Amino acid sequence: MDYEVVVVGAGPAGSTAAKHLSEQGISVLLIDKDKFPRKKACGGGIPVRLLKQFSYLEELIDSYSYTGWVHSSFSKSKVQLQREKPTVAMVVREKFDHDLVKLAVAHGTTFMDGKTVTDLVISKDDATIMLDDESSITSHIVIGADGVWSTIAKKAGLASSRESMGVCAFQEQKLGKATMDQWFKNTRTLHVHLHFQGMSGYGWVFPKKEHLNVGIGEIIPLKQKREGKNNLREKYQQYLVELKKQSLIPPSFGTGRIQGGATPLYPLDKTYADRVILCGDAAGLINPVTAEGIHYAMHSGKIAAEVVGDALVSHNYSDDALSQYQTRWKKQFGKDLKILLKTTTSWTNQTEKLIKLLNKDKKLADMALDVLTGQRSIHECRVELVVRALYVYCIDFLRRGNTDN
Ligand SMILES: Cc1cc2nc3c(=O)[nH]c(=O)nc-3n(C[C@H](O)[C@H](O)[C@H](O)COP(=O)(O)OP(=O)(O)OC[C@H]3O[C@@H](n4cnc5c(N)ncnc54)[C@H](O)[C@@H]3O)c2cc1C
Repeated sequence: MDYEVVVVGAGPAGSTAAKHLSEQGISVLLIDKDKFPRKKACGGGIPVRLLKQFSYLEELIDSYSYTGWVHSSFSKSKVQLQREKPTVAMVVREKFDHDLVKLAVAHGTTFMDGKTVTDLVISKDDATIMLDDESSITSHIVIGADGVWSTIAKKAGLASSRESMGVCAFQEQKLGKATMDQWFKNTRTLHVHLHFQGMSGYGWVFPKKEHLNVGIGEIIPLKQKREGKNNLREKYQQYLVELKKQSLIPPSFGTGRIQGGATPLYPLDKTYADRVILCGDAAGLINPVTAEGIHYAMHSGKIAAEVVGDALVSHNYSDDALSQYQTRWKKQFGKDLKILLKTTTSWTNQTEKLIKLLNKDKKLADMALDVLTGQRSIHECRVELVVRALYVYCIDFLRRGNTDN
C-alpha cells in the first residue's frame, strides 16, 4: 500500500476527512487537481453552528454578519432578521480551503496538488487511483470528496443521473475595509432576495471584511443547463442593476468576470461501496433551499474519518462495513435534507405574504432565522414553525376583520 487512505478532493469535505484520519495516526494522501490556493465558486456564508462543532474554525473566519434583510421577489416588502450575536460567519474560500489543507498537513496528511484523478480500480486487495500523469496510487480505502461532478462517484458506480440541480452566477471583489465599513457598517449587514423577479432561487449580497460577494442561484432541470447558464448571467446583471438602484451595493462593484457554479440538490441513493466513501457535494449533501454545503461537507468528512478509522482497525473495507457511514450521516442530518428538499420543490411565489407574516411576529421571525442559518434543525422545529405561522395568520385575519367592521 502507498497509503492507508487516499482522499480525492481538497475542499472542506476532503480536508476535514484527512485531518481527522491523520489525528488517528492513519497514513493519508490528500490529492487535488488544482494548485492551491485555488478559487472556488461559493458565497462563503457559513452557519455559526458549524463553529460549535469545529471550534478550530474560529481562527479561519474572515468576518461575521450580525444582521440581514430578506426581501420579497419584487422588493415590495422586506424583513430584518437580527440577533445580538453573529448569525452568519463569512469566509473567503480561496484562503479558507487552503487553511483547512494546511491544518490537515499539520496533523500528518501528505498533500499533492495539481494532479487530476482520472480513474479508480477496486480489487479484492486494494483500491487504486490513476492520475493524469499515468501514475497510480494504492490504498485500502478511497474517500471521494471531489465535488459535484465527482469522478470517484462515477467510477464507483454510485453517481445517479440528476433531473435537476442548482446553478449559480456570482462575483467576489475585494473592495477594501474602508468601503465595506461605509456600505455595510460593522454589522456587515447582508441581503437575500427570495425568488428574485420570480426565479426559482434567490439572490445574495454577502459582505465580508474586505470582500463583497454577490450572486444569484436558481434550480433548473438539467436538460436546460446550457440555456439556464445564459439566462442566469442576464438575471445576474439585472440583479446588480436592482441592487445599485436600491443603493445596497457600491456602484463600483461588478466590473470583473461573472463566475458560474453548480450545486447538487439531493443526496445520492448510495454514498459508499466496497473500499469507497463519498463526502460533501460528491455525495449530494447540501441544503437544497440555501445551497449551504460547507457544513454538510465538513460534517460528512468527519463521519467518514470515524467510519474509515473503524474499518482499518477491523480490516473490513467491505460495502457492508462502510454502510455505517450512510447510517450515521442520515441520523445526523438526513431528515433535515429531506424536508428542505420538499420545501424547495413546493416553493411557491408567496414571498410577499411570507415576509408580511414575518414582519408581524418577532417570535416567528426568530424561528425562521434559526432555521435559515441552521441554528435549529427544521426536522425538530417544523411543527412549532407551522403552528406559530398559523397562529400569526389567524390573529392577523381576526384583527383585520375587526378593523373592517
Ligand atoms: C456559486 C455558489 C455559491 C455557494 N455558496 C455557498 C455558501 O455561501 N455557503 C455554503 O455553505 N455553501 C455554498 N455553496 C456550496 C459549497 O461551495 C459546496 O457545498 C462545498 O464547496 C462542498 O465542499 P466539498 O469539499 O464537498 O467540494 P468542493 O469544495 O467542490 O471541493 C472539491 C475539490 O475536488 C477537486 N477535484 C474535483 N475533481 C477532481 C479530480 N478528478 N481529481 C482531483 N481533484 C478533483 C476540486 O478541485 C476541488 O478542490 C455554494 C456553491 C456555489 C456553486
